[in-house]
Amino acid sequence: AIKWVMEPIQIGSLALANRIIMGSMHVGLERLEGGVHRLASFYAERAKGKVGLIVTGGVAVSPEGGMGEDYCNAYADEHIERLRPLPQAVHAAGGRIAMQLFHAGRYAYKESTGLEPVAPSALQAPINRTRPREMNPEEIERTIQAFADAALRARQAGFDGVEIMGSEGYLINQFLSPVTNHRTDEWGGDFERRARFGVEVTKRVREAVGSDFPVIFRMSGLDLVPESTTMEETIRFARMIQEAGADALNVGIGWHESKVPTIAMMVPRGAYVWVAKQVKDAVSIPVIASNRINDVRHADAIIRDQSADLVSMARPLLADAEIVKKSIEGRYEDVNTCIACNQACLDHIFSGETASCLVNPAVGREEEWRLTPAPVKKKVAVIGGGPAGMEAARVLAERGHQVVLLEKQPRLGGQLNYAVQVPGKLEFSETLRYYRTQLSKLGVEIRLGTEASAEEIIDEGFEEVVLATGVTPRMPELPGLHLPHVVHYQQIFEKEVSVGNRVVIVGAGGIACDLSHLLVENTQLSAEAAKYLLEYRILDSRELQQVQSTKRRVFMLRRGKHVGTGLGKTTRWATLANLKRHGVEMLTEVEYREITADGVRIVHAGEERLLPADTVVIAAGSTPNNRLYEALQGKLPVHLIGGAREAGELDAKRAIYEGASVGRSI
Ligand code: SF4
Repeated sequence: AIKWVMEPIQIGSLALANRIIMGSMHVGLERLEGGVHRLASFYAERAKGKVGLIVTGGVAVSPEGGMGEDYCNAYADEHIERLRPLPQAVHAAGGRIAMQLFHAGRYAYKESTGLEPVAPSALQAPINRTRPREMNPEEIERTIQAFADAALRARQAGFDGVEIMGSEGYLINQFLSPVTNHRTDEWGGDFERRARFGVEVTKRVREAVGSDFPVIFRMSGLDLVPESTTMEETIRFARMIQEAGADALNVGIGWHESKVPTIAMMVPRGAYVWVAKQVKDAVSIPVIASNRINDVRHADAIIRDQSADLVSMARPLLADAEIVKKSIEGRYEDVNTCIACNQACLDHIFSGETASCLVNPAVGREEEWRLTPAPVKKKVAVIGGGPAGMEAARVLAERGHQVVLLEKQPRLGGQLNYAVQVPGKLEFSETLRYYRTQLSKLGVEIRLGTEASAEEIIDEGFEEVVLATGVTPRMPELPGLHLPHVVHYQQIFEKEVSVGNRVVIVGAGGIACDLSHLLVENTQLSAEAAKYLLEYRILDSRELQQVQSTKRRVFMLRRGKHVGTGLGKTTRWATLANLKRHGVEMLTEVEYREITADGVRIVHAGEERLLPADTVVIAAGSTPNNRLYEALQGKLPVHLIGGAREAGELDAKRAIYEGASVGRSI
């Protein structure tokens, strides 16, 4: 059972009931109609879930540093009233909430506002199309004061504290780093002068709010940007910020422009806890660890090991507002775990949509999607036990319907069973565990290995049917498809076929990327085996490297211009870089000629080639499997959802959303 994470802790004058913090995250709800109240409900739900402290998404301290008028801002007194519902709702739910003081500096997108982004130096960020203007000393002074004024407004609006955003490559971080600060005046040059802006902000905020109001400083523990702040400087900076009056340090990892994945699913859990530990050993105020911690038991171990004093989780509280409450009650199996896919949270935010969650589409719809008992309880058949069907069955059962889930495979999960096999995607097994547990607890009758006919469904007396029968692979028109070494992607994931050393994949979408990854990793030695071979000197490191580099040769082909379409914005680059590192060759704008016994004949870049292959895999999209729809039409109300409604890429986000939605409509 968890213990350490449940010990109360003080952050300055604020007593927290436990050591889990909901980390700052922009969700964008404030921009919708009734937005601030939606945001308030969203936070209140998490407060009810017993998280120790909530930190809001970034609240801009100045117009140049923020995202626009319709976001949360604190640079004018009239903003106080707009912000007030947030602490009010959280306090009513028994929680605590701090406001994050935010200035994006050169990361601010200002194209549509007529304002220019500002920064310590006029150096353009690789993730912004606009070059910032260098701040003059008077602006620097004004901006420091803006942080202080916004902090005071937070206090006046009723927040329990503030967090100064000094990490992730935003303005304060830009002053600290030699990469982004080329100034030669008193705000740049040597380390002390680069650190001065962050230190002054902290001092001025402290002066503004007084000694009895908590100030957290979110610092960058590791920039992951070449030539940036060193670990030694980071530690010195942490001490300076403590000295300047901060009550706690929240340690962030990586800048937004960093080329290293820091929160994607492929990042092992807890990979950056050691950074927080380095900071903790250097200061005496509480230190907060973050990045890829999605289980309260893991957070508990981090605190027990004295690697940090508190743990910040952001996305895990989107996935399950009650993760803390359920963990306190020992109901770990009921937690809907964040799988770090970024598909509905960060990917949405970076494309200007409001955030939701792949495994919990009720995020952002807290009010309108509140579960209510069904007005008429019915006997409902859900056909298909993939993500769409499982979510539909869960919601229907929770609302009081009698639900039977029929699945033709001998196990639940549909294409989630494919995802878990892909290296770095094991988190999907948490989603499978969640649904298995919930469906069983809710008394859903599950019939595996059952392919029902329309007659059987009608005869059994079902009153409504949800059809979530998924997809079947699409076979392109191509001579040679009948050859024995041609298989489709499902056969590989189902382990029905053996795969040779030379593989050509026809198709280069999300499924083909997953498949390539699976095929190149599979033949390698496990890390454990490699360690053993080295330790016992069976191989030296050179020989080991040689063994590890012998792996399958995989080609991924596409008629179109791009590979990995359908993958999310925040993960596509990392996935493709990973495949390249593993030597997967990706050819685009390919014209297919035929599949022969020796391989695939194509025309590429004006040249005819035969790509040798022992196995040719077809992963060229899917078609909806909706056979039963026609047969049931006019006889029973039928709801078509997920891949059965519309095929396309493996899309668990849409599948779960549609399951959640249909579950509320019957
Ligand atoms: Fe986690 Fe994915 Fe949900 Fe984001 S969308 S909170 S990463 S499960």
